[in-house]
Amino acid sequence: MSFALPITPPSRIKGWVGAADSAGGGVSLPIHYPGTGAQISTLIEDDPIAVDRAVLAARDAFDHGPWPDLSVERRIEVLEACRSIILENADELARLECAATGLVLKELRARHMVRAAYNFRFFGQYIAQSAGQRYDQTPGYMTTVSRTPVGVAALIAPWNAPVALATMKVASALAFGNTCVLKPSEQTPLALARLVHLLQEVLPEGVLNLVNGRGPVTGAALVAHPGVDLVSFTGGTETGRQIMAAAGQNLVPCTMELGGKSANIIFASADLDRALEGALLGIFSNNGQQCLAGSRILVERPVFDEVVGRFIARAEAIRVGDPTDPETEIGPLASLAHMTRVLGYVDTARADGGALLTGGARREDLGAGYFVQPTAVTVPSNAARVAQEEIFGPFATILPFDTAEEAVAIANDTEFGLVSYVWSDHLPTVMRMTENLRSGVVWVNTPMMRELRAPFGGFKSSGVGREGGAACEAFYTEEKTVTIPTVPPTLRQLGMAEED
Ligand code: NAD
Repeated sequence: MSFALPITPPSRIKGWVGAADSAGGGVSLPIHYPGTGAQISTLIEDDPIAVDRAVLAARDAFDHGPWPDLSVERRIEVLEACRSIILENADELARLECAATGLVLKELRARHMVRAAYNFRFFGQYIAQSAGQRYDQTPGYMTTVSRTPVGVAALIAPWNAPVALATMKVASALAFGNTCVLKPSEQTPLALARLVHLLQEVLPEGVLNLVNGRGPVTGAALVAHPGVDLVSFTGGTETGRQIMAAAGQNLVPCTMELGGKSANIIFASADLDRALEGALLGIFSNNGQQCLAGSRILVERPVFDEVVGRFIARAEAIRVGDPTDPETEIGPLASLAHMTRVLGYVDTARADGGALLTGGARREDLGAGYFVQPTAVTVPSNAARVAQEEIFGPFATILPFDTAEEAVAIANDTEFGLVSYVWSDHLPTVMRMTENLRSGVVWVNTPMMRELRAPFGGFKSSGVGREGGAACEAFYTEEKTVTIPTVPPTLRQLGMAEED
């Protein structure tokens, strides 16, 4: 069996600097279609010299270009034009995204591209309303606080939802008047390369640049570049540590959206039908590759057997296959190495005394693509590695609990703290959980409702800083305080002879 490619991508993918393709200069990296494992394109890596040119182009567009000083009205028009370009090209962009990631095409069209377009609208609407502050409590003085763009933003994106996540960064950086250099994951550069080219039609030269390549080469050169003023990163926790250390050398502010091992807590007092749907969506959406996955499913003991039994039956009925088929619910994992790593956690679970509940194997019947069965294990305790380490695949770890206190203790017993899910119709239980869970977001009786106006980000090793309306404004702008006397003040006079 071999699935047809969603689209034939360009044979060579290059970055974009100023008004032309980037210089490259690095090695050639193969891009594979996860649905078949076949090589479908070649990425030309940007070496540190090419990265330097990209940063200088962004620097020039910030220091001398019109973008930072454009009127808000004009900037909103450009952001709206970006939105239109994404919607007009959504099918092509979704197909390119599918070809590099293996994500389900229908979901890419219906969610990722719609979200990507909305990111530009949202930040346009945000800047239309944002205002500074004025303090006049001190008699005789008026003090204003205004916000001004910071400069050149380095935007580094992961492979699990490239366009949806990168456009959040691009739209917010641009909306507040910054220029940027975007570095997608070297595994999934196809749709973002096309999008950056398309957006040049409406953006001034040098405002949005693109560099491609491996993290330790292209990414490291970008983060350490002295011309960069901000770093916004989404990716793994270990990479986040390295990037913050490098950016710290230049005293550059960072936001870090990192990994998770989030608890999806199901109480006996929940609407179990909805909780079950939420648990399935929480771990199997996006081919199971999402930072906010509810990858530890905690179930109150009186309903444990019922919930787990129903979860297994539904997991086994999930349609895994060709990501371009509208019937498919889970496509292939993003790479061979990632699939091998995810499946390796079955043995890890067993070594820690766990038991396989369902799945746990490659779908060999689907050919050479990186297809795996939706998988669930149970383990004796939350100390098991499958309950502590981010697996980032369609792999749930299920644990029982007896009391709300125990549920909180298990949920918080992790180095991560990105999100939590709580399922209960008992208000005091819900309130206790929302107060005590140590995560940046708590979703109650709903899976994954991302409110862009509210901050999104993690406690502990799940992140530093937040993304969202006001959070992005704080990150992508510098505050400037101006104090003016309203009545000329009497000044202390230095060097004047004192009169008797
Ligand atoms: P990754 O950390 O391997 O890579 C992310 C990006 O960083 C890639 O573009 C990579 O090339 C680059 N990079 C790697 N090393 C670098 C370095 N030294 N300097 C500069 N750049 C470098 O992550 P990934 O495997 O692409 O993505 C999966 C991870 O992302 C998971 O841990 C997931 O939880 C996390 N994630 C977090 C969020 C969030 O919002 N918190 C969202 C999506 C994904």
